[in-house]
Amino acid sequence: MHEVNHTLPDQILMAYSTGMLPQSFDLVVATHVSICDDSRARLESFDAIGGAVLEQSAPAEMAEGSLDHMLSVLSQGNGSEAVSPRSILGEGVFPEPLQTVVGGDLDAVEWRGIGMGCKQAVVYRAGESSVRLLQIPGGVGMPEHSHGGTEMTLVLQGAYRDEVGRFARGDVEVGDSGLMHTPVAEGDEPCICLVANEARLKFTTLLPKLAQPFLGI
Ligand code: ZN
Repeated sequence: MHEVNHTLPDQILMAYSTGMLPQSFDLVVATHVSICDDSRARLESFDAIGGAVLEQSAPAEMAEGSLDHMLSVLSQGNGSEAVSPRSILGEGVFPEPLQTVVGGDLDAVEWRGIGMGCKQAVVYRAGESSVRLLQIPGGVGMPEHSHGGTEMTLVLQGAYRDEVGRFARGDVEVGDSGLMHTPVAEGDEPCICLVANEARLKFTTLLPKLAQPFLGI
């Protein structure tokens, strides 16, 4: 059975369950929960408590093409209890919630080189917040940076290590604005992550700072 070492904290699962989480994190949570038994079980217990709260609030208008709309499509027949993690794991790199949004698995992604052999594909962007796929070759690191807000990183393939620990498939790292780190990919295969940011990254060195407007991170 697949083992996840870094799960989501209760507070985030509760916020997700009640729809209070900043939008950019919803896809990361939905994808993590689909491959992490522990987080899914806790989310189901919060759903049971929070269901009454949701029923009382009127549904918000959803614009076509908005992340809300995208996620509402996801949740139709694809709620946390409908997803079987065992059936997903053998089926590709992307778990089902992410495949639905991307429109396929890895080969459906239009990667864009961002230097050092790294590639990214922006899945969603609104103001300063973004959700993107990141591909980092083994042995390569992201430049040291801190964060303007919370950053949520879910590993989909390979592994990386930073000042906090080692993160492999299914693991999720939640860093707040106080975290400064230098994630380095491990092993032979590229590390592929789904990364959601509330606000722009703060790089500590000049070159990545200069490239930032082009990368949209
Ligand atoms: Zn970071």
